[in-house]
Amino acid sequence: MDGDGLDRYQQKRDFTRTPEPTGGRADGDAVLRFVVQRHDARRLHYDFRLQVGDALRSFAVPRGLPDDPDLRHLAVQTEDHPLDYVAFEGVIPKGEYGAGTMTIVDRGTYRLVEPDDWPQAMIDGKIGVVLAGRRYRGEWHLVRTKRAGEEGRRQNEWLLLKIRDRYARAEDDPFPDVDLFAATEADPPTVVEPMRPATTVEPFSDADWLFEMRFTGRRVIASVAPDGVRLVAADGEDVAAALPAVVRDLGRLRAEVAVLDGVLVALDEYGRPSARAFDAALGDAPVRGQAITFQAFDLLHTDGLDLRGLPLRDRKALLRATIPALPTVCAADAVAAGGEAFCATVARAGLDAVIAKHAASRYTAGASDEWREIPVSPDEKAASMNLDAAIGRPGKRSLRHGRVRFTNLDKVFWPDTGETKGDLIAYYERIAPFLLPHLADRPLHMNRFPDGITGKNFYQRKANEQFPDWIDTVAARGDRDREAEEHPVCNSVETLLWLANLGSIDLHPWMSRRPHLEHPDFAVIDLDPKDAPFAHVIRIAKTLGTLLRAVEVPAYPKTSGASGMHIVIPLAPGYTYEQSRMFCEVLARFAVRAHREIATVERSVGSRGGKVYVDYLQNAKGQTVVPAYVVRPVPGATVSTPLAWDEVTSDLHPSQFTIHDVPARVDARGDLHRPVLEPGIDLLDAIAALQREIDTV
Ligand code: MN
Repeated sequence: MDGDGLDRYQQKRDFTRTPEPTGGRADGDAVLRFVVQRHDARRLHYDFRLQVGDALRSFAVPRGLPDDPDLRHLAVQTEDHPLDYVAFEGVIPKGEYGAGTMTIVDRGTYRLVEPDDWPQAMIDGKIGVVLAGRRYRGEWHLVRTKRAGEEGRRQNEWLLLKIRDRYARAEDDPFPDVDLFAATEADPPTVVEPMRPATTVEPFSDADWLFEMRFTGRRVIASVAPDGVRLVAADGEDVAAALPAVVRDLGRLRAEVAVLDGVLVALDEYGRPSARAFDAALGDAPVRGQAITFQAFDLLHTDGLDLRGLPLRDRKALLRATIPALPTVCAADAVAAGGEAFCATVARAGLDAVIAKHAASRYTAGASDEWREIPVSPDEKAASMNLDAAIGRPGKRSLRHGRVRFTNLDKVFWPDTGETKGDLIAYYERIAPFLLPHLADRPLHMNRFPDGITGKNFYQRKANEQFPDWIDTVAARGDRDREAEEHPVCNSVETLLWLANLGSIDLHPWMSRRPHLEHPDFAVIDLDPKDAPFAHVIRIAKTLGTLLRAVEVPAYPKTSGASGMHIVIPLAPGYTYEQSRMFCEVLARFAVRAHREIATVERSVGSRGGKVYVDYLQNAKGQTVVPAYVVRPVPGATVSTPLAWDEVTSDLHPSQFTIHDVPARVDARGDLHRPVLEPGIDLLDAIAALQREIDTV
């Protein structure tokens, strides 16, 4: 099919009926052109065409060009088209070949990479291209499928995939629907006079306006180019040299060339932009620039396109699309329409002004009536309030954490009490310093509730293709598994929040850690009441607590967060799961002997007779137990909470510890389960002591 000229194209068409072009000649310059057309034919597809001489090598791609490097889109090679087709838009009449509407999605130039000549690429069955369009930029590869050569299959099936470069995006972070042909091609502006509000007005609400807080800091125009980054302030000073972290992050935008308007901001201890913090950050030589972030609020130019003539709402969408998750650069939030409510929240945060901007406004130099400043009176009482708390729910304001981009933060996960996925993520972010040590280096099972606790859930043990490559994994095989599986390992806040964003409400780690997966570092007794009263759980726990104290075995109780309690006993290194299970069986049988009427070691719910199940069988390789501080998928957004033994009384109920109060409790009482992470007891000595104690009782 390669090099077949345009015969097949000509044969298929009646040029007295179709408006499609018949030919076209290459200019003779070295530039190669490409086009992506949306073809609403019998079946909607996208035609991806690449110039080869006077022709366009053509591929029909049902799902279009992927932006996500994890995707593989089928591309079926069709006949070469004439070069003039690169500009074709129109309606192919009914009854003609390819009948339907053809519109141009993007066009531009491209170059071949690996290999850099077409005949070799067709022989290899591998075409690498770097596109320079308005919408599509960066590298894609077409790879001929293995099946293409098989008998009975055509030679024309390829897979189209995005290479992981600066333009790559996740599937759930799609490129915005903005008309980029409305932008003009131009070199980036060298000098920009920043747009500013011409007037000061009272708070107002209007669906045609966007509202942003006015940042206290230093307004700069950021110019990004392959040869460097400039951060030019109003007085013409370039402050880039003082801000290496911001400069580094601006080099990672989804654009090689960009001009952004924004403010360099330093946050104070309450998370508010602060002039004092800004001066301190710039002035203190050892930490110079570290605490400063660039809050970008406008995008004026990207990769050869002047965007200043586009409506602000389109520039905002492109700004968000251009900034990936970066530590020191982010797209400033704006709210639409509700200016009065927004002014009130900004005042509550102790800030003093909001800027209103007309959503359809172009970017113009200097003072404009399409930007309006709204002074607000900061609420001094709120001065100690965290900005996040004032602006809304903690998880709501920031849509990113490092490489994690959050989705559906407003989705209600606990319908009875109204907590959202954003609340879950905010809790995990807050509690991470206490939770992460309990998760570190352990294979993890997830319990995912993508639609909250009343929706469908599923257990997931394997780190699948959905997992980004920065998430740590460990190959592990439980006693009941046929073969080892790659499990996720949660060793960072980023991973924890990424898992939470998947709807993983509770996390279930193993009781052993890499590299000693055969050796648990704690043992656990799980008191599971099912339908039995919680008071019975307390009675059994107290008996076990007394016994363990008598034999000088340190043990740490916690609520399971659901209906029961866990008693955790840290072990010295090197014991096996079997030894840990034996130890817990002795404890469990003792508890049942002491409380025959309310305790049982019967595994099956039917045989428990309404008694509390004293579960020691969980101490097995591949079994899991939720650690302290994990949230549970039960009404009330309760948390598995460490207890002091003197709290294990009839006043206790697991529903009293939720994502709302556990962080403050940990601040006040410290991490009561910290000792669980320390080397624990000599198990064989403990079993012997236990036997002696039980025999004497
Ligand atoms: Mn087509």
